[in-house]
Amino acid sequence: WITEFVDGTEPGMPAREPVATGRYAERFAGQLVLVTGAGSGIGRATAFSFAEAGARVIAVDRDPQSAARTADLARLVGAPQAWAETVDVADEQAMEKLAEKVATAYGTVDVLVNNAGIGMAGSFLETTTEEWRRTLDVNLWGVIHGCRLFGRQMAERGQGGHIVNTASAAAYQPSRALPAYSTSKAAVLMLSECLRAELAGRGIGVTAVCPGFVNTNITGTARFAGADEAEQERIRRRTSRLYGIRNYPPEKVAEAVLRAVVRNQAVVPVTPEARGARLLSRLAPRA
Ligand code: NAD
Repeated sequence: WITEFVDGTEPGMPAREPVATGRYAERFAGQLVLVTGAGSGIGRATAFSFAEAGARVIAVDRDPQSAARTADLARLVGAPQAWAETVDVADEQAMEKLAEKVATAYGTVDVLVNNAGIGMAGSFLETTTEEWRRTLDVNLWGVIHGCRLFGRQMAERGQGGHIVNTASAAAYQPSRALPAYSTSKAAVLMLSECLRAELAGRGIGVTAVCPGFVNTNITGTARFAGADEAEQERIRRRTSRLYGIRNYPPEKVAEAVLRAVVRNQAVVPVTPEARGARLLSRLAPRA
């Protein structure tokens, strides 16, 4: 195994957790990998890990600057080619345009990571229709668009491929603080398992990755859209009680993503508390 350390010594490279990606080079070198929500957190770390394994990377984000930065850094850590695309994954037409452009300009995607997501805090009864819609539009419809558009291209090409959807421990762990988010992630988990069954015969794998609490913008700065300071603090305290904040780095989730593709795993609870919650949800009826 070759373990590569990216420690901030390259110009412009932020300090990162060491990840063992060299061992995946044989599998991913030259492959075309598209990651949504690649401008930050888990998506950016995942783009870097594929880049380190020699893949060609398409970094997609609704924020053009952060997508461009991810693509620049991906080249720096080993991607032979990396591109940035600005798209809101919830926008079906924009996603259709993206799929057409990718097919024409870059080729058929070998690995698709539907990772873009947002967190909306608030109790079930207080969450507005607008908040429910936006959460489901991004977290659920964004994944459906990606799976359908790029899944069809993979199926038509007939050379296999892999789709990874970022769900969450929230998919099987009920939460009073994040009902819309948890509902959207439960749907992502189920659609991934349905699609996996459908595509199995065509050599296309589908994985739902379920992280618990990971240190990113969504949680690290508790930037839950719609939550005021007091609410953010409540969520932080509740989440740490539920899961125990372990400062889990996004690079480790990225590593789990690459491993899941190599092993063709169906559902991957990444962090220790996510593994515990998954086990409990299968053993015991929910209170
Ligand atoms: P993050 O906020 O650091 O990154 C999310 C990225 O997605 C951002 O760059 C954002 O601009 C982009 N994005 C958001 N909405 C988009 C849209 N409509 N179209 C395109 N891009 C969009 O958060 P993160 O923690 O890295 O989250 C990544 C994924 O992991 C999300 O699906 C999230 O729900 C999931 N997740 C995170 C945690 C955690 O604890 N951080 C736990 C479980 C699951």
